[in-house]
Amino acid sequence: MKTLEQLVRPNIWKLKPYSCARNEFHGNATTFLDANENPYNAPYNRYPDPLQTTLKNKLFQVKGVKPQQIFLGNGSDEPIDLTIRIFCEPGLDNIVAIDPTYGMYEVAADINGVEYRKVPLSENFEMSASKLLDATDEHTKLIFLCTPNNPTGNCLDRAEIYKVLSRFEGIVIVDEAYTDFSSEPSHTKDLATFPNLIVFQTFSKAWGSAGIRLGMAFASKEIIEIFNKVKYPYNMNVLTQERALYMLEGSETVKTWVQILLKERERLKTLLKEIPCVQKVYPSEANFLLIEVGDANAAYQHLVTSGVIVRNRNNISLCRGCLRVTVGTPEENNIFVDTLKSWKQ
Ligand SMILES: *Cc1c(COP(=O)(O)O)cnc(C)c1O
Repeated sequence: MKTLEQLVRPNIWKLKPYSCARNEFHGNATTFLDANENPYNAPYNRYPDPLQTTLKNKLFQVKGVKPQQIFLGNGSDEPIDLTIRIFCEPGLDNIVAIDPTYGMYEVAADINGVEYRKVPLSENFEMSASKLLDATDEHTKLIFLCTPNNPTGNCLDRAEIYKVLSRFEGIVIVDEAYTDFSSEPSHTKDLATFPNLIVFQTFSKAWGSAGIRLGMAFASKEIIEIFNKVKYPYNMNVLTQERALYMLEGSETVKTWVQILLKERERLKTLLKEIPCVQKVYPSEANFLLIEVGDANAAYQHLVTSGVIVRNRNNISLCRGCLRVTVGTPEENNIFVDTLKSWKQ
């Protein structure tokens, strides 16, 4: 790996961050008159903890990652954008990623004026480390991987991920938004081995909390310190922190949801395989299924007309003729199956 000083943009490396009131004083006091807050309307009158210490301590218990190695943001969107802004000089540096994958990486690269290079997966949606590395050059700062991958649903081969991590000189992001639905262990365990690894997770999927916008990045203490320097001082509001703590206290409920959804995923797969228009159901380690139906645009329209919304992936690389359907409640899944059955091609 190159040094962080070589990888981080010079302006970010030199940046002296804004020091907010909640940063300058730590500890207990009786009278807070430092932040021009309104003394009324507790507890929402107070600025939130900029480093979300209570929440990170709780996450340490649940995820086994030390608080100093956690960044929390406004959904995964924030760590995706921050990673690009920290490492990639617009118009000069570039990003390499698997294709197809989650669309936000490319959008965030475009917004930041950073070249985004797509390396196709195989027909079976497998990644080749050597192909990815061949697409890199001395200006490649980041490689984006996603496992289980969206929209393909499969996990990338672990040995290939390790090849990328050990051979690439820059930063490797492994997006694990769907990790709770997968039989593969999380790559957070690899943080001690690979200083160039950043793992993303989210409260939006298994944790049932897309509405509170909470994304997590796990990385070395040194990388997290740079995230903390660049982020908005109060990027995580009080309501989100409160609700996330509440969810983490009830992590047994989340386990129950995941068990139900995994059973439903397998039941849905079996039902779909019996429908004549379904040509293929791809293996999935996530809470969705990618299915090939032939004329995906027509199938999508039929479903919409019946009030059932899925994701049409017809125009995505390697996904021609495919729909992506989220695993819902048993009732929702039955409605989807019955509606697809009633489609006359
Ligand atoms: C759904 C999803 C996310 C979650 O994004 P949030 O901004 O945290 O809601 C992240 N990555 C991938 C690949 C996803 O599919």
